[in-house]
Amino acid sequence: MASQITGSCSCEAVKYSLVGPLKDARSCHCSMCRRIFAAQASACAEVDAEKFSWIQGEDQLTSYVGERGYGVQFCKHCGSTLSIVYNGFIHSLTLGCMDGDPKVEIDRHIFVGSKASWEVMPEGVTAFEEYPE
Ligand SMILES: [Zn+2]
Ligand SMILES: [Zn+2]
Repeated sequence: MASQITGSCSCEAVKYSLVGPLKDARSCHCSMCRRIFAAQASACAEVDAEKFSWIQGEDQLTSYVGERGYGVQFCKHCGSTLSIVYNGFIHSLTLGCMDGDPKVEIDRHIFVGSKASWEVMPEGVTAFEEYPE
């Protein structure tokens, strides 16, 4: 089902829109995601790059590209992380920056085997110790 989804950073300098549905919503609890997202885990969903566009403030983004070609784009004013890029293309979007109900639910938690000692996992979620085969 196609749907219009929008998102923005916390200072609203950067805004985007896309045509859904989003897919593969997941939360990763690895030590790298904890630091990059400054949280207990990342929460992202994949998007088709051709269905995505920045509607405001693309020039206000800055990025950090880590190992293996994956990088994150964040607002240089407020620091909100909006997207994950792979080899220069939008790959995933952070669920936390989406407006309203993006019509997707996290369907799996990955790298729970290396989650922080202080995180208590909710019961009943689909969780994998590492990346599922
Ligand atoms: Zn911002
Ligand atoms: Zn991770």
